[in-house]
Amino acid sequence: MLAAAAHPDDIEFMMAGTLLRLKAAGAEIHMWNLANGHCGSVRHTREDIIRIRAAEAEASARLGGARSHPALFDDLGVFYDPPSLARVGAVVRQIRPAIILTHSPQDYMEDHQNVCRLMVTAAFARGMRNFETHPPQATWDAPVAVYHAMPHGLADGLGRRIQPDAYVNTASVMTLKREMLACHRSQKEWLDVSQGMDAYLNEMERMSAEVGRMSGRFTHAEGWRLHSRLGFGPEQFNPLEQLLEGDYDGTTVE
Ligand SMILES: [Zn+2]
Repeated sequence: MLAAAAHPDDIEFMMAGTLLRLKAAGAEIHMWNLANGHCGSVRHTREDIIRIRAAEAEASARLGGARSHPALFDDLGVFYDPPSLARVGAVVRQIRPAIILTHSPQDYMEDHQNVCRLMVTAAFARGMRNFETHPPQATWDAPVAVYHAMPHGLADGLGRRIQPDAYVNTASVMTLKREMLACHRSQKEWLDVSQGMDAYLNEMERMSAEVGRMSGRFTHAEGWRLHSRLGFGPEQFNPLEQLLEGDYDGTTVE
């Protein structure tokens, strides 16, 4: 399975708990930040911060037991266009995930929304032989389920609350999720200074507890919305539910 987000640390905020639960259920897990995080520093040069953040993402993936994949774009340089689709499509065809976790289609940040669109189309085009990827990769036809994470702040760009269709119980993996987020030291450190020690880590925990409260069932949770199955898989295809059983709580949307 593949978790794909825009910036180094987005996965750790909203998706890593589910990723770790899937690993425990036997899935091979991949993490991919499509943008290099080069705007995430007020003191490093572009080259330095790109290198630092790639190393931080790699450390987090190693801690979680995931394979990581290199960024393709700059921050604010993620666009939904044919060249980008061809490059994203190549990586998706190479990994062949049955589950894709990605951003919400409605989000406060345009890079997030564009990653979401790129991932949806790359998955949709997985078996289309006349859709050429860059570099070329063989097509595959198995079903894929695309799940959209909650946006940061749990609201869209107009401030409207987003309601998930399903919740995954992440209570048992919160310690490791927090350690993975803490790998992103370049981001954590300036927030420690400007907003108090561990503000970065505590914000992630606060959101996961809030989603837990929304579930009415779990103390910590991540929320998900399952993309339409049209073009992606059979009607009942919901591998998160199948793999996580009692730790998945959702209405099955037909
Ligand atoms: Zn982001």
